[in-house]
Amino acid sequence: MTATHHRFMLYQWNIVGHTQQLLGLEKEIKEKNISHAYLFSGPRQGGKSSIAKTFANIIQCPNHYCKKCKDCQLIQAKAHSDTLFMEDNGESIKIDDIREIIRKTNLTSQSPYRVIVIENIERMPIEAQNSFLKTLEEPPGKTIFLLTTSHLDQVLLTIQSRVRHFHFSTVDDGILKAYLKETFGSRSDMDEIINMAQGRPGLAINMIKDEGAFEDQKKLYNQIETFLKKNDLAQKFSFIEGIEKDKDQVSLFLDAFTRYLRKLLFEYMNSSSPLLGKRFTPRDIINLFESLEKTRYFINRNVNKRLALENLMIQTER
Ligand SMILES: [Zn+2]
Repeated sequence: MTATHHRFMLYQWNIVGHTQQLLGLEKEIKEKNISHAYLFSGPRQGGKSSIAKTFANIIQCPNHYCKKCKDCQLIQAKAHSDTLFMEDNGESIKIDDIREIIRKTNLTSQSPYRVIVIENIERMPIEAQNSFLKTLEEPPGKTIFLLTTSHLDQVLLTIQSRVRHFHFSTVDDGILKAYLKETFGSRSDMDEIINMAQGRPGLAINMIKDEGAFEDQKKLYNQIETFLKKNDLAQKFSFIEGIEKDKDQVSLFLDAFTRYLRKLLFEYMNSSSPLLGKRFTPRDIINLFESLEKTRYFINRNVNKRLALENLMIQTER
C-alpha cells in the first residue's frame, strides 16, 4: 500500500489524502448513482481540481481510468472533446461562457457523459449564478458538472442545494510527508516544505517542482516575519501598494500570513516561549486571525482592497 493508494480503493486516483471522500465518490460510481452536478469545496491547492479531473477520467474511461486508452490520454491532456475544463484564469465567469461550453459539448458525445469541470465557481457573479441555476435544474442530457470552490460562502445556497457537495479539508502532515517522500525522494528541507504547505498537497508539490515558487514562498514568509517584528508602516504600505492590483499575489500573501500566524501559535503552545520577543500576546495573534478573515471577506466582495489591506497592516504595529 502506498500513500496515495488505499487498499480498499477501486480506482487509481493518485490523490494525496481525502480517503473518506474518495471512497464516497467510488461508491456512487460503482452503484451507478452519479449525480448531474458535484461541488468540491475546500482550501486552495488542496487537491479539488485534481480530484475533479480524475473523477471525470474514471467515469469517461471504459476501464475506469486505465491511463492507457485514448480517452484517458486525451482527458489528462485536457484535450478530450466531451470533457471540458474551465480553469481559473483570474477572470469572472459569465453565463455566456457556460452556454458556449455546453454548446460545444452538444456537438459531439461519443463518450458516456459530457463532463464540464468549472474551477472556482465563486468567480461567477450572483446574477450569473442565478442563470446557471436553471441549467442545473434542467441539465442537457448526460451532462455532469464538476464544480470547485475555495469560497463556499460565495456560492448561492440554491446552487449548493442542487449539487452533491463534498468537502476536502487540508491533508494531514504525516500523509503529505509520506507521499512527497515516496514521489520525490527525501530532502533536507522537507519539514520546511511541509510547514509552509499547511496541508495543501498542490502547494507542496509546486514548491518541490518549481524552485522559483519555493523561493517566492520563503521570501513572502520572511517578509511577513519582518512586518510582525518591526514598526514600519511606510514600508508595509508600500508593500501593499505593490501587490494590491494582483489578485493572485494578494491571495498568496493572505494565505502565507495565516500560515505564519498558525506556526507562531503552534510554537507558543509547544514551548510557551514569548511570541516574537513578547511583541504579541496569544490574544493579539487571535485578533490578527480575525482581521485576516475580515480582510479576505472585504476583498472577496470588492470592498476597497487597499484600505482593507492597510488596515490589516496597522494591526501589526505595536
Ligand atoms: Zn482509459
